[in-house]
Amino acid sequence: MLRENYEEVQKNIALACERAGRERDSVTLIAVSKTKPVSDIEEIYALGQRQFGENKVQELMDKEPQLPDDVDWHLIGHLQSNKVKYIVGKVKMIHSVDSVKLAETISKEAVKHGTDENILIEVNVAGEESKFGVSPDETLSLVEKIAPLPNIHIRGLMTIAPFVSDPEENRPVFRKLKQLSVDIVSKNIDNVSMSVLSMGMTNDYMTAIEEGATHVRVGTAIFGERNYNI
Ligand SMILES: *Cc1c(COP(=O)(O)O)cnc(C)c1O
Repeated sequence: MLRENYEEVQKNIALACERAGRERDSVTLIAVSKTKPVSDIEEIYALGQRQFGENKVQELMDKEPQLPDDVDWHLIGHLQSNKVKYIVGKVKMIHSVDSVKLAETISKEAVKHGTDENILIEVNVAGEESKFGVSPDETLSLVEKIAPLPNIHIRGLMTIAPFVSDPEENRPVFRKLKQLSVDIVSKNIDNVSMSVLSMGMTNDYMTAIEEGATHVRVGTAIFGERNYNI
C-alpha cells in the first residue's frame, strides 16, 4: 500500500518536471511522516527515500535515533526558541524560521555545538491569519537581519499554501514565493542563497513544481490520512 502510494508520488513528480521542462533531480521529495509510526518510515526508507519531514520537535527526537544515520530530517513545523537546543545538529534544514529572535537562538546553539544550520524563511504568502510566517513585504528585511549571524545559513524560502480544493488556486501563491526569491537573489546578500523553494503538499505539489519548487513536502499521499486522535 505505502509502496504504491510512494511510486505514484514519484511518478507524478517526474510528470510535473517533464511538463515544466525541468530535470527530475532538481526536485527533492520530503516524505512528511508526522503522526506516523517508525515502521511506516522504515517501509519508505527501504524504497530508497532518505529525506523525511516532521513538524514537532519531540516527535522528531523520538524517531531520529530509531532510524539509520543516513536519514536527512527536515523540521517543517513551527519552532519555539526554547526547543531549538534539542534539534540543532540533528536536522538537515529548518524550514520554519520567521523571526530574528528564533534565528538568533538557532545561531547561538549552532555556535555552542560547533555546527552549522541550514534554514529557510517561512513566508505567509496568502496572508492567512492562522498561519505562521513573515509577510512577503517583511521578508527581505528579515533576511538582511539574519544573514550576518554566525553558523546559520539561509538557503531559501518556504510557504504553506492555503488548503484549497483546486490546486490551480494556489498557483499565484507559488509564483509569488518564486518571485520573492528572485528579488532577494538580486540583492546579492552575503551568506544568503535562494537555491531552495520549499512549497507544495499532497494537494498541490505538481502545481508547485511547475512554479519552481525545489522541495515538496508530501505526507498524506504517501502515508495516508493522519489520525490526530490516537
Ligand atoms: C503536514 C505538513 C505537510 C504535509 O501535508 P500533506 O497535505 O499531508 O501532504 C507539509 N508541510 C507542512 C509544514 C506540514 O505541517
